[in-house]
Amino acid sequence: MNGKKVSPKLWMLRIDAGDKLPDSIIGFCRKNGIKTARVEGIGALRNVVLGFYSLERKQYFQHEYPEHHELLLLKGNVTLKEGKPFLHAHAIIGKPNNACFGGHLVRGEVSATLEVFIEETEKPVERKSEKKTGLHVWKV
Ligand code: ZN
Repeated sequence: MNGKKVSPKLWMLRIDAGDKLPDSIIGFCRKNGIKTARVEGIGALRNVVLGFYSLERKQYFQHEYPEHHELLLLKGNVTLKEGKPFLHAHAIIGKPNNACFGGHLVRGEVSATLEVFIEETEKPVERKSEKKTGLHVWKV
C-alpha cells in the first residue's frame, strides 16, 4: 500500500493485492492523522462480504462473494466512532458477465489493485448511536 498527498487535503492511495478492507483504509487514516474524509475507489476484490441492513432486526444480513470481482465503485466516508477512524462504505462489484451486486461493505481483500481517493475535511465529525435505527449516525 502506498499513498501520496496530491493536494492540501487530497490523497491518492494504492492498495495492493492481499491487503484487506476496511483495515487498510483505516490504517492509512490513522497513520496520517485523517479523522474525517470522503472516500472513493475502484479496483478489484475477492472474499467480499456485502451487507444489507434490516431495520426490523437492526442487524446486517450478509452475503459472501469469494471469487475475484471488479470493484466498480467503493464510495463512503471516514468519521470518528468512539474516537477512532471508522470507515462506512458501500460497494458495487461486477462479475465476468458484468452482472453487478452491491451493498454495505463489511470486508474484502484486494485481488489485483485498488485505487482510492481520500479527501480530508477541515473539521472532524463523530458518530453517535441512535436508538431508532440501531445505527451509529453522524453527529452533525
Ligand atoms: Zn452502509
